[in-house]
Amino acid sequence: MLLTILKVAIDAPLDTLFDYLAPETGPLPPPGSRVRVPFGRRRPVGLVMAHGETSEVPVERLKPVLETLDTAPLFDTELLRLIAWTARYYQAAPGGVAATAMPAPLRQGKPLPEPPARLVARGPAPDAMHRRAPKQAALLDLLAARPRRTDDPDLPPGWRAGAARLAARGLVEFETEPLAAAWADAIAGPPLNAAQSTAAAAIVADLGRFSARLLFGVTGSGKTEIYLTAAAECLRRGLQVLVLVPEIGLTPQLVQRFASRLGAPVAVLHSGLSATDRLVAWNDARSGRAAVVIGTRSAVFVPLARPGLIVVDEEHDPSLRQHEGLRYSARDLAVMRASLAELPVVLGSATPSLETLRHARDGRYSLSLLPDRPGGAVQPRVTLVDLRRHPAVEGLSAPLLQSMRSHLEAGGQVMLFLNRRGFAPALFCTSCGWVAECRHCDARYTWHRRIQRLRCHHCGDETGLPAACLQCGADLRPVGEGTERLEDALARHFPAVKIARIDRDSTRQRGAVERILDDVRDGHTRILIGTQMMAKGHDFPEVTLVGVVNADQGLFGTDFRAGERLAQTLVQVSGRAGRAERPGEVLVQTSYPEHPLLQCLLSGGYEAFAEAALEERRTAGWPPYSHLAILRAEATRPERAMTFLAACRRATAAPEGVAVLGPAPAPMEKRGGRWRAQLLLQSAERPALHQALAAFRGLATDLPEARGVRCFFEVDPQDLF
Ligand code: ADP
Ligand code: ZN
Ligand code: ZN
Repeated sequence: MLLTILKVAIDAPLDTLFDYLAPETGPLPPPGSRVRVPFGRRRPVGLVMAHGETSEVPVERLKPVLETLDTAPLFDTELLRLIAWTARYYQAAPGGVAATAMPAPLRQGKPLPEPPARLVARGPAPDAMHRRAPKQAALLDLLAARPRRTDDPDLPPGWRAGAARLAARGLVEFETEPLAAAWADAIAGPPLNAAQSTAAAAIVADLGRFSARLLFGVTGSGKTEIYLTAAAECLRRGLQVLVLVPEIGLTPQLVQRFASRLGAPVAVLHSGLSATDRLVAWNDARSGRAAVVIGTRSAVFVPLARPGLIVVDEEHDPSLRQHEGLRYSARDLAVMRASLAELPVVLGSATPSLETLRHARDGRYSLSLLPDRPGGAVQPRVTLVDLRRHPAVEGLSAPLLQSMRSHLEAGGQVMLFLNRRGFAPALFCTSCGWVAECRHCDARYTWHRRIQRLRCHHCGDETGLPAACLQCGADLRPVGEGTERLEDALARHFPAVKIARIDRDSTRQRGAVERILDDVRDGHTRILIGTQMMAKGHDFPEVTLVGVVNADQGLFGTDFRAGERLAQTLVQVSGRAGRAERPGEVLVQTSYPEHPLLQCLLSGGYEAFAEAALEERRTAGWPPYSHLAILRAEATRPERAMTFLAACRRATAAPEGVAVLGPAPAPMEKRGGRWRAQLLLQSAERPALHQALAAFRGLATDLPEARGVRCFFEVDPQDLF
C-alpha cells in the first residue's frame, strides 16, 4: 500500500514544505486544511499544501501530524496554487505566505467561528419566571423584543446556559441564520452612458473565464458604476465579487455604496479590524455568506466559496504593495489569482501604472476607456504658478491666495495639497548653518510645532527642541513648510474661514478622518489641507479649487519612478476639483513651469505623459521594458552590508542576460540605526532573473560574511531605496 505523505507549509524561515505522515487516528487532512505538527521543540500550526507519495526523508524518520484542526479545507486548490506561486515568485518561504493568507486566530490554531445562529423567543417571560429565574426571564425578554444573532454583543455573559434551558422548554429556538438576512432590495444607480455600458458589458461577457482588463477612466468618469453593474450581474449568477482598494480608499461611504446599490451582504477586510472581526469577515467570504468582499491588499488571499469577479481599484496605488515581511503586489497577485481560478479581473485607474498600460498596449490586457465625466461635468482647468515670478511666503503665492479668495467668495471649497506633514521639514541655525539631524538616520528632523517635538519621519525617533544651535549657540529657524505651517498661515489669511488638516498626525484617533471629511461634506469646513491621504477616493462636489503647494519635490526625484508618481498625484489631486455642476480650477505652484513633465501633462493629460514616459523607459531599459529585483542587506555596523553583498556577488555567476549592478550603499544609507546596501539585478527575461535570484538565495546563510547581516529580496521593487 502506498503511504500518503502530507506536504505541510510551516511559518519558519526555510524555503521548503515539510513532510509528515497522516495522523494516527481519524481521517486524512485534505490539502488546504490546518494541522498541528511536531517541529523541533515547537508544535506549530501548518497548512497542508498537497498530498504526496514520496519524500526525500527516509519514511521511518517521518513523524505523524499531532492533530487535524479543520475538517474541511480553508483554501481551495486555486488558492493553494496562488500561495505556492507567491512563495516562488517573491522568493519567500511558503509557510510565511500561508501565514499571511490566514487571519491571526487561525494561524494560532483557533477553530473557525461557528456560523452564527439566531435566537428567537416564542414570547415574553411569564411573571412567575421573573421571580424564580430572573436571569432567564431577562434573556427571554431581550429576545422577545427582537431575535438576536449568537454573536450579538448585547447578549449577557453566560447566556448560553440560560438559552439552552429555555430551548429545552420550547421557549426559545435556535434558527440558523438565513443567508438572505443581509439581502435587501437593490437601489438603482444612474443609467450608464455609452462608454460605461460598453465597458460593463465587456466585463460581463468575460464572466466564467480569465481575462485581465484595464479600465482607464478619467477621475469621476464613473468607474465605480461599472464595477457595480458588473458585480450585480455576478451576484445574479450566484457568484461572489472581490474588490481590492488602497488603504485610504476603503471608506464607509464606499462600503455603503456597494451594500445599498447591490442590496447584498458585504464583508470588509482591512488592517484596522480586531482579530475577531477580521476572522468573521474572512469566514463570511469563505463560506459564501458575503456576496461582496471589499478589502485592502492582503484580501487578495481571502478564500471565496463561489468566486466570480475580481476588481482592483486604483491599480496604480503604491499601497497595494506590501513593503514589509512578504513583499508582494496585490495587483499582480490578483491577476495571477484570476488566471488560476479562471475569472475576469478588472484593473481600474485614472492614472494607470506604466506596467499595466504596457500590457494593455501589447494586447495582453483588454482595454476599456472612459474619456469623459458623465452628466456634462467638465475636467478642471489647470494653471501653473511660476514661483520665480510669484515667490511663495510660507508656501503661498499671491496668485494662489487671490484665487482662493475668489473661490471662497463664490461659495466654493478649496483643497490644498502638500505632501509633507509637520510644521517645517528642517530646523537650521541662523548663524553657522547647523541643521538638526536624526541620530539614527541620514535624514533631517521635522519640526512638529503642535507637540513641540522634533520627529524623524524615517525611523519615528523623537526629541525635544534644542534651545539654541548645538554648535554655536545662535537661534534656530524652521525652514520650509509642512501642513501645520500652511494651516497656521491660512488661519491668518482667512480668519473667518473654517480650516481642516488631514494628514497622519491629525488623524491618529479612530474615526478622525471621517469626522474631518464629514465636516467638509457638510460645508462647514471651507479649506482642507492635506497630504496624499486626501488625494483620492473622496468625492466633494463643492470643491472648486485645488492648489498643489509644491510640485517640485517630485520633478527631480532620483528614482526612475519619481515622474510617474508625480504625474499620478497631480492628476488624482486635480480630479478632486469640480466633480458636480461647478467647473473646477487647479493651480500648481512650481519653480520649473517649463519642465517637460508638467508641459506634457498640461497639454495632453495623463495619456500623453504616459506615452512619453514609456518611450523614455524603453530607451533606458527600465521597467516595464526590463524586470528588476533587489537584494537588500542591512546591519547595525557600518560596511557589513556592503561587504556581505560584495561577497554574494563574487560567489555567484549570474546567468546570461542578467545584469548585476552594485553593491551600492542605499540612497539613505543609515536608517533607524542600520547601515543599508543593495545589489540590483536587471534582466529583460523573467526566467533568467528568477534563476539568478535562486542562485543568490542560499548565500544569505552560507557565507561567513552573512553574520550580523539581515537581508531580503524585493522582486519588482517600487522604488530603488
Ligand atoms: P470613479 O469611480 O471613476 O471616480 P464614480 O463611479 O464614483 O467615478 O462616479 C463619479 C460620480 O458620477 C458619482 O457621483 C456617480 O454617481 C456619478 N455617475 C457615474 N456614472 C454616471 C452616469 N452614467 N450618469 C450620471 N451620474 C453618474
Ligand atoms: Zn550654529
Ligand atoms: Zn531617524
